[in-house]
Amino acid sequence: MTETNGKAGCPICRKPMVTAHRPFCSRRCKDLDLHRWLGGHYRVKTEERQDPGEGEGGDPDEG
Ligand SMILES: [Zn+2]
Repeated sequence: MTETNGKAGCPICRKPMVTAHRPFCSRRCKDLDLHRWLGGHYRVKTEERQDPGEGEGGDPDEG
């Protein structure tokens, strides 16, 4: 079920878009999106760096 009134909703919370904050519904969502974007960018940068000998404890691939 999707309500498509021809208008795009907030990409963060899917709420009706507010022209003042488009394409988001509020400034908060705008900031959230920006943070997510920046965060992703940073992660990519850090991921490129490889630290020899250092193993980050994640989930074991093999049991
Ligand atoms: Zn929103």
